[in-house]
Amino acid sequence: MKDYIIKNEWKIIEEGYVPEHNQITESLLSLGNGKMGQRANFEETYSGPTLQGSYIAGVYYPDKTRVGWWKNGYPEYFAKVLNSCNWIGINVIVDGESLDIAKVKEIHSFRRELDMKKGLLSRSMDVTLRNDARLEINSQRFVSMHNDELGVINFNIRSINYNGPITVESYLDFDIVNQDSNYDENFWNIEKTEAENNSKYVQAATKKTNFIVGAAMENRIILDDKSITNSSILTVHSSKSIETFNLNINEGSKVSISKFAGITSSMNYNATELKANSLQIVKKAANYTFEELLSNHTRAWSDIWEMCDIKIEGDVSAQQAIRFNIFQLYQTYTGQDDRLNIGPKGFTGEKYGGSTYWDTEAYCLPFYLSTADEEVAKNLLIYRYKQLDKAIENAEKLGFSCGAALYPMVTMTGEECHNEWEITFEEIHRNGAIAYAIFDYIRYTGDKSYLAEYGLEVLVAISRFWSQRVNWSSKREQYVMLGVTGPNEYENNVNNNWYTNYIATWCLKYTIEALEFVEKEHSDQFNKLIEKMDYASGETKKWKHIIDNMYYPNDEELGIYLQQDNFLDKELMPVSDLDEKHRPINQNWSWDRILRSCFIKQADVLQGFYFFEDHFDEEQHKKNYEFYEPITVHESSLSPCVHGILASKLGMEDKAYEMYLRTARLDLDDYNNDTEDGCHITSMAGTWLAIIKGFGGQRLIEGKLSFSPNLPSQWNSLSFKIKFRKNLLEVNIEKGKTEIVNLTGPALEILLDGSKINLPANNNT
Ligand code: BGC
Repeated sequence: MKDYIIKNEWKIIEEGYVPEHNQITESLLSLGNGKMGQRANFEETYSGPTLQGSYIAGVYYPDKTRVGWWKNGYPEYFAKVLNSCNWIGINVIVDGESLDIAKVKEIHSFRRELDMKKGLLSRSMDVTLRNDARLEINSQRFVSMHNDELGVINFNIRSINYNGPITVESYLDFDIVNQDSNYDENFWNIEKTEAENNSKYVQAATKKTNFIVGAAMENRIILDDKSITNSSILTVHSSKSIETFNLNINEGSKVSISKFAGITSSMNYNATELKANSLQIVKKAANYTFEELLSNHTRAWSDIWEMCDIKIEGDVSAQQAIRFNIFQLYQTYTGQDDRLNIGPKGFTGEKYGGSTYWDTEAYCLPFYLSTADEEVAKNLLIYRYKQLDKAIENAEKLGFSCGAALYPMVTMTGEECHNEWEITFEEIHRNGAIAYAIFDYIRYTGDKSYLAEYGLEVLVAISRFWSQRVNWSSKREQYVMLGVTGPNEYENNVNNNWYTNYIATWCLKYTIEALEFVEKEHSDQFNKLIEKMDYASGETKKWKHIIDNMYYPNDEELGIYLQQDNFLDKELMPVSDLDEKHRPINQNWSWDRILRSCFIKQADVLQGFYFFEDHFDEEQHKKNYEFYEPITVHESSLSPCVHGILASKLGMEDKAYEMYLRTARLDLDDYNNDTEDGCHITSMAGTWLAIIKGFGGQRLIEGKLSFSPNLPSQWNSLSFKIKFRKNLLEVNIEKGKTEIVNLTGPALEILLDGSKINLPANNNT
């Protein structure tokens, strides 16, 4: 665990240059706007450890997958979000020496900070180069939320003691590699490199997928309050467009560069229009000052914060953490484009390839449901709807038929990208999360027509899969599901994972209800869908038989559900008895030792309790929690939040708080020693869940929004906004007192600690 980030309510601050943490800081201070993202790399030359990262949402490369033993049904490729054009580059050369903080003679001061309220990254440093020139650098940059194809930099150099020549080179560069590349290949073909007065532009196309990305720049340079015009030198190299300014400065001189970068992709334009659009973006931007563009950008951020801010009084560390999590989620996904989704690392790194996992449905959806307009969450659902044909093809490859769908474990376009048989073929509970998300969206928004429009087709296809995946055991005279991997990936190829059996049966029940609803309320559409899905009414007969006869492993004596058959044969010991040197076990133990042990990576049975809370009573919750949590190592970032919510429910205040801190500061404190690869974006939604559903006790009970607050003793107060249908509410919780204000929307009846409360309509409605 690291502790070098300074605690502040709205800022992430690094004070002092720590090269060994540089890649972690680059991840933490990343910027993004849902369409593109940029790690906090230095603008100037940097020869220390760094992971260069500029990403464009949806632009990926199908990399070869590396496996020794090929199995039928394995994917053809692994999709990777690509490192794209480096648009931030500004080199500074003083009397022949490049500014490079890794090589300077002395660092007098250094500070980087990310202002989350404004979405602004700033850096200030004071260094003496090896040639004794002492410079002060102040830079700021943002990736605009107002115009999501624009990035802007304000880079200032002040000479403290130096008189003489200085060269400033601002450039765009497409000579880009991915660190996470199996064969050290370059994934781009350069198409255009131009450096003319009217066109400083580079364009490249991805190999195989042929996404085309164009980047244009404009630079404005001021020396001691005087604009330098028409004196730059424009040059091109194979992959680079460079604008060079050769200046002379004196002690006390200040050089200011404003750089505007316009980045467009063939995701949104015809290839022939990219150049004109990129150029137009930067020409327009260059008519404004940095401050003017920044104020548009901060206004867009303030609209976002208006809907989703959470205030915690009395605990700066927790306050900083939740804002950081919310900030990164909105930097990753803003919900305007149903072709995009939320990669586990967002735009902060290359790991996990930027692909979509069940994380979106199980963790992220509730966050967007409660903090944004309905369309945002709906687009996440439509993303899967559009990939239904591919999910059906995917299931066919594995031998399923008649329109059964298996959604991929990892995907960019709907095709499976994961190739470990025990996950690709067996971690099938993901199908359940996709169905659950439809249920969750509808119960929260009340938009039942979604079923007729999109949802039913997905549900039927998923139910067809489950009905083929189970088999009748004549020995048990029940249905069983063999050879699966549950959410706990520290068990593979088990029989009757309780969670998977349970969610499969639930899917069948919910699909039957959905069929009945659409038939009754949208009969025209129902008839069309029946034909489209080739649906036979007899199908539900088998589903009902499965529902009534599914086998669920349990232990009556302990009063718990068993994670899988024979779980109790394991040698049981609590994680607290494990010597610290063994942890994390995934870095210290052989795989077979992990598989045989009782230790659980992340919520499995308890994931089921979290999803289907009202199916189980308090006693069952307690017994299952008390059995499973102590043997859980929480080595998935998705784990602590679910346990935190259940601990809050069970009144285990200390445990809930411990779990909250683990999820909230996972990246800020680099808990898992891996933030240098990027931040854990999808688990950040878990932090939000741990506060709202955990400490706020927010639920939906019979269609009513309900709160049962349980404030940690470390906090003086907690307040948050929550969007529910036509209302935006503010919930203010203090010890022993909760106030709920209807900020916008009609009168609303809610529940507080089980009692009905009528919130009058807001005057603005
Ligand atoms: C977890 C999965 C998760 C994936 C991506 C894995 O470590 O076990 O549940 O989907 O990470 O976040």
